[in-house]
Amino acid sequence: MAPGSRYAAGARTHAGMVRDNNEDAFVAADGVYVVADGMGGHQAGEVASALAIDVVRDAHSSGFESVTDLEKAIRDANTSIRLHAADTLERAGMGTTLTGVVALQDTDDDPTPRLAIANVGDSRTYLHRDRRLVCLTVDHSYVQELVRTGQITEQEARFHPRRNIVTRALGIDRNVAVDAWVRACVRGDRYLVCSDGLVDEVPDHEIAAVLEGVADPQAAADQLVEMANRHGGRDNVTVIVVDVLDGLDAPPDDDVLPAGAVDDGGLPTEVTWADENVDPDATTLLPVSPGAAAAGSVRSSQPTETLPVTSLPSASAPQTSRRRFGVPQFLFLLALGAIATVVIVVALLAVRDEPGPADEVPVVRVPTTESDTPDDSVVGPGATPTTRPTVVQSTTSTAPGSTAGAVVP
Ligand code: MG
Repeated sequence: MAPGSRYAAGARTHAGMVRDNNEDAFVAADGVYVVADGMGGHQAGEVASALAIDVVRDAHSSGFESVTDLEKAIRDANTSIRLHAADTLERAGMGTTLTGVVALQDTDDDPTPRLAIANVGDSRTYLHRDRRLVCLTVDHSYVQELVRTGQITEQEARFHPRRNIVTRALGIDRNVAVDAWVRACVRGDRYLVCSDGLVDEVPDHEIAAVLEGVADPQAAADQLVEMANRHGGRDNVTVIVVDVLDGLDAPPDDDVLPAGAVDDGGLPTEVTWADENVDPDATTLLPVSPGAAAAGSVRSSQPTETLPVTSLPSASAPQTSRRRFGVPQFLFLLALGAIATVVIVVALLAVRDEPGPADEVPVVRVPTTESDTPDDSVVGPGATPTTRPTVVQSTTSTAPGSTAGAVVP
């Protein structure tokens, strides 16, 4: 069976209502349903996202037997973006997110129809089944990390000023960590692959309503893009709706269907979470009801202005799973800095207060001409001034309050 024959898909992309260019790219044909959201100035984002899509599509044309093939294609895309960026100064630092669904070839050893899902960045892949919508991917974003570590709530994340920062993307580092896993093809499942331009604008329950109510995948994709634009369209938006036409029956009990870590009715499921710290249970089923909020469904309300990992604030933002810099490390450095400052200040004060040859309190014998002033009167710092102007000459004392070197009235 051809890789894409089990699926019907509709797709649409749009620059949105604010931006002039569209840095999103996608492929939705022949068993490859992938979205990439590019980043970088001088149209570099467009180049990066298009490169990533091309590499994955071309690799899949030879067939993917396992999720490993998908992971390798994504890593090859990462390399390709970096090579192109190295050729042109204006494209330095360009990158892209990537997520989506790809068909896997049936094998003689395992006739179970399977598909693979992968994610890098904050574009998302959802599953809609039985009137419920679940986000299968976990965002690699700054605010998602804050939510995961309990520093902010999901509601706060929606309006966080740094909600547009991604912590993982293709094209940034030599090696890229890819979240990828395998799911069984279940007849009637509907997958939604989208850039953050959709989820930033449209609440999950509205997305779910369209997926449930619009049968044609192309019409559903069109409606979702139009909804994003009606809500503001502050970012490029890309939507792919993929229907599974042929496959296994849905498992009888899927009340709990967290991310890709859970198999379908005992079917074999491979899970290769690239980030061991990612909690696969961070996503839960979202009932199709107004006001419902999906755990792990961190969304921003601003257009994506994704920053390369290397631009993240190091104090609290995790950059990658390999270079995590958390609050404990920050507090430790803060305390270390405070101690060092105190030590330096104390040392300076000690040196300053210690009397030395040059710091000795000046004792100046003041010549007098008045008979009411003893010839051997001594005037020093803090001495009560006489009733006549007297110049007390000293060249060394700088002690506060000292009258040395000043004209004493
Ligand atoms: Mg975007």
